[in-house]
Amino acid sequence: MGEKEIKKLINIWEEFVDRQKNDKKVEKSRKFRLNPSKEKVEKLAEGVLFNEKKHGLKYCPCRLTTGDQEEDFKLICPCNFWDQKTWKQKGECWCSLFVKE
Ligand code: SF4
Repeated sequence: MGEKEIKKLINIWEEFVDRQKNDKKVEKSRKFRLNPSKEKVEKLAEGVLFNEKKHGLKYCPCRLTTGDQEEDFKLICPCNFWDQKTWKQKGECWCSLFVKE
């Protein structure tokens, strides 16, 4: 995966983080940021881009697609991680890409 593609995806995630940070309608308990480990974020970006090349969509790098289109749409990154157990229990998404503020 090219360094340029990885950086581009990370920029998209940073913008996503900034948007919710500046959105007054987002509750404090739902505020998040990118994992502080740059290395981890880059690895996850690589995984998402690999999935995009292989499956045509930016699927989560830590979970397997099922073949059921409706179910698999839920795995497109960023997913609705606030509903995940890991968010409620550990304050992070399944892959720890996004972590609670
Ligand atoms: S669990 Fe995290 S990395 Fe996986 S799709 Fe959701 S937001 Fe992306």
